Amino acid sequence: MREQIQIAVQDILPDPAPVFALQGYPPNVHPDARALGIFKSAMGLLLGLARPVAVWMDITAEEFQSIYEGEGDNAPATPLERIYPQAEHFVLFAATLNEPVCDEIKALFANDDFALGAMLDSLASVAADLMGGRIEEHYLRTASSSPGPNSNGLMRYSPGYCGWHISAQKALFRRLRPEGIGITLRESYLMQPLKSISGVMLCGRPEIHRFRPDYPFCSECCTKSCVDRIKKMKKGRPPEVRSD
Ligand code: SF4
Repeated sequence: MREQIQIAVQDILPDPAPVFALQGYPPNVHPDARALGIFKSAMGLLLGLARPVAVWMDITAEEFQSIYEGEGDNAPATPLERIYPQAEHFVLFAATLNEPVCDEIKALFANDDFALGAMLDSLASVAADLMGGRIEEHYLRTASSSPGPNSNGLMRYSPGYCGWHISAQKALFRRLRPEGIGITLRESYLMQPLKSISGVMLCGRPEIHRFRPDYPFCSECCTKSCVDRIKKMKKGRPPEVRSD
């Protein structure tokens, strides 16, 4: 099955906390009135400009193996290479906020409005991530009559993170064809528009997604976001952020 879905922008509006965290605010520092005003202005721009759209499709385990291997540039050992052979369902996805948001960020920087430009950039990054959660919800609603998937055992993984080399985007794009919703792949493997996400949702028993973050590349990881994701999985809550 393959499906294109429109996402309501109201369903991906970020809370201030993760946006200010991306701006470099420590958790115990509260933004002042000026910063909150800039946040509000950026939110207004996002509401007016974002046109979130997504596509997802089921693929087989064999198809995913070839996408995972990509151009052969993955780290020698990765969490995903141990997780995916235990998964029951494989779903490719891509989503974008669309070009007007990215154009506005560029225009703000070009006009030296760095504060608003940086805020909109952070806001759009968090909103792009939230699109992943909406795709999961949609997929689980749509697929609920089929024999799988266990909603507590669904997790998203993206090329470019946790040892899965970004060049796997090429094989992912070849199979999913997200050009139909306006996402193309640059030679650098970055997506155009930049505020887009892509990857695979793996469904299976929750425990297949648990691992120790002690891979060589983990020492350079600033977020350690897998720790939170695994904690949420243990508590039976669907994850809200993708792996990085
Ligand atoms: S510590 Fe960072 S790089 Fe390592 S698995 Fe977790 S999220 Fe990925």
